[in-house]
Amino acid sequence: MKKSNQETTAIRGQIERTQYREHSVPLFLTSSFTFGSAEEMAGMFAGDIEGDVYSRYANPNTEEFIQKMCVLEGADAGFATASGMAAVWCSMAALLDSGDHIIASRALFGSTHQILSQLLPRFGITFTYVDGIQIEQWQESLTPKTKMVLLETPSNPALQIIDLRLAADFCRNHRLILNVDNCFSTPVIQNPLILGADIITHSATKYIDGQGRVLGGIVLGKQELIDKVIFFCRHTGPAMSPFNAWILSKSLETLALRMERHCQNAHTLALRLQNESKIAEVIYPFLESHPQYELAQSQMKYGGGIIGFQVKGGTDAGRNFLNKIKMCSLSANLGDSRTIATHPASTTHSKLSTAEREAVGISDGLIRISVGLEHIDDITQDILQALD
Ligand SMILES: *Cc1c(COP(=O)(O)O)cnc(C)c1O
Repeated sequence: MKKSNQETTAIRGQIERTQYREHSVPLFLTSSFTFGSAEEMAGMFAGDIEGDVYSRYANPNTEEFIQKMCVLEGADAGFATASGMAAVWCSMAALLDSGDHIIASRALFGSTHQILSQLLPRFGITFTYVDGIQIEQWQESLTPKTKMVLLETPSNPALQIIDLRLAADFCRNHRLILNVDNCFSTPVIQNPLILGADIITHSATKYIDGQGRVLGGIVLGKQELIDKVIFFCRHTGPAMSPFNAWILSKSLETLALRMERHCQNAHTLALRLQNESKIAEVIYPFLESHPQYELAQSQMKYGGGIIGFQVKGGTDAGRNFLNKIKMCSLSANLGDSRTIATHPASTTHSKLSTAEREAVGISDGLIRISVGLEHIDDITQDILQALD
């Protein structure tokens, strides 16, 4: 696929038209493909001749989605999966062997934490949690068997920023695979592969779909690593459905436009809430008060669509606030055109102890808002009336 500006690739990076000369890409709901001859069939099975064989391996719709994402993220290759968690799991299961060790930033998505602590140990793979923003301390967690560093930036929901260039230096120096979950930022805001990561994952369920319709995920990265991921996925079967790929490839056409508005709305809301007497602190990477404001500016194009703030009065105040919300949705999802409010301490992160929550920057009064695409005045008004 030709490299052009992000917006153009996302719109024009379409697979070839069929004999019907359609303008919009058709949906290829087919589990398998036919061959013109025994020789062609043998060649395509062997991979000597290019062409689709079976949709668990590849399908025109998933290929289009993958190829657009490769161009947007600066990846050599990728594999599209049925969900974001399938992508995270495959990025580890395909590349790690029994006995290997992972260094992981403590502030990870909940199910990623479960993979590390409950599933990988069954296969003899161990991990150590580190403070993502103290890269100079990661060295202490290195073992001769360390093979991968796993992180998310900005972190969920405390929005701590990990220096991707420094993390890449650390991994290069110690010959480790840097694996970054880039779901919060999307390729519009930040490109970890270009900053030195080896492999990245996305939950396409979030901003890439952006309208709360389908699940999806993708693993992207350097050819030699993705070859192993493709082998693993082809034979274990987590492939994205062609229908979801068709939806998600269409969604990419408006991703840049949507992200700009998500970020503009989030930034405006963060600035507005800074002066509210009932709020102790507003957290947003592009606010000058953010402890890593300059780092955020250096690796992110915009501040993102998520803001955090602490209502004064702890857990009760947090819950009260949510009960007073009128327009915004109460949901654990994020990256939707509808604004969503959550109280992490009593929902997504309730299984952690208060001390564990504090270690990743989640106070009892923290509210996370996934700022949507409604008019900013309506979003602001709903939040201000709930604070009152
Ligand atoms: C939602 C999410 C995932 C998991 O994605 P699913 O599509 O729900 O499986 C992984 N990482 C992050 C950061 C997420 O927000």
